[in-house]
Amino acid sequence: MQTDHGTPSNGAAFKDRMIVITGAGGFIGGALARYFHEKGFRRIRAVDKKPLGEWYQRAPGVESLCLDVSVEQNCVRACEGATEVYNLAADMGGMGFIERFRIECLRSILINTHMIEAASRAGAERYFYSSSACAYNVNLQKDPHARALKESDAYPAMAERGYGWEKLISEMFCQEYWAERGLKTFIARFHNVYGPYGTWEGGREKAPAAISRKVIEAKHQGTDEIMIWGDGSQARSFMFIDDCVKGIDMIMHCDELIATPINLGSSELVTVNELVQIVEEIAQVKLARRYDLNAPQGVAGRNSDNTMIQSILGWQPHTPLRDGMRKTYAWIAEQYRQRNTPTRDVPKAFDNTAAASNQPAGVVK
Ligand code: NAD
Repeated sequence: MQTDHGTPSNGAAFKDRMIVITGAGGFIGGALARYFHEKGFRRIRAVDKKPLGEWYQRAPGVESLCLDVSVEQNCVRACEGATEVYNLAADMGGMGFIERFRIECLRSILINTHMIEAASRAGAERYFYSSSACAYNVNLQKDPHARALKESDAYPAMAERGYGWEKLISEMFCQEYWAERGLKTFIARFHNVYGPYGTWEGGREKAPAAISRKVIEAKHQGTDEIMIWGDGSQARSFMFIDDCVKGIDMIMHCDELIATPINLGSSELVTVNELVQIVEEIAQVKLARRYDLNAPQGVAGRNSDNTMIQSILGWQPHTPLRDGMRKTYAWIAEQYRQRNTPTRDVPKAFDNTAAASNQPAGVVK
């Protein structure tokens, strides 16, 4: 298969390349490690600062290291022998987190600063950076009906305070490492990613997971109502995790996209109210809506303009929101059920592919 024009890396020679993934104990990094493992890659190094027991998923045979990659020496260790580096580590969460903890978000600059240098010194051929739609100018997102954001909308810059500016500067690092050092860098601006094996409680969860959990709680506790952050008119698009990992692979292996930020997101725009309705239909329940107008709610409207990804890769994320939410809801409902099940009833055996049914949330043995 080609590897220079958006075609995922499938060739036999590729299977022995050393792939390093940071943030692999988290949602997207964990899914990416599993994706490459299932494609037959034999040398995958997964890295995260979380203790191994707290990773969402771990594929068998994958080297898993517990390292803090905001520390230079740890990045050197993480990148030893690397051919491809996927940097997905970041201190982040949903609006509740990034509006409250801007310093933590900004500190993620240390991660990319040290990782890209270590990747370059280790002789890596390709480096992927997970940027965000939060890098876009917030002034273009003040209306729920605002037009979709295209890649050039990041400048003139007025990114999301904290988190968005860190992404923008890290993108620039990637562009300059290509310009000055010849490291092939790839930058995807993710728009809200959701799916199983992600954060669903604790304060870092994003809207799809938070709404699923609230609906499950309301059903379980018989409260018949749901609290929504804001007035529910905020509009967003949400990308299912399977589309995200496939898109990462395609972008990373498309030389036309070297050092060129590109949207990786769904263009199916919904309001938060519509998202609640989808989850209610999946759960077969109708809840009274209460609105917390003082809660963090982010920009009024944000969607992904997919003209560029469609024209360069001939592909774009396409999983319908309702389909992805059905899988996400089922996984969170199972985590919730297990959390509320007395410990003696929870099976101890763990299999990566069966984590949803065998373990409490976030626990991987
Ligand atoms: P996540 O929080 O589930 O995973 C991030 C992981 O990085 C966590 O497991 C965390 O422990 C790890 N990490 C943080 N600091 C670290 C450090 N210093 N050293 C080692 N590991 C560290 O988040 P995610 O949703 O999987 O996001 C992955 C990447 O995608 C992040 O860069 C994020 O900013 C970006 N992104 C995600 C979304 C989304 O909707 N999930 C949207 C836009 C961008």
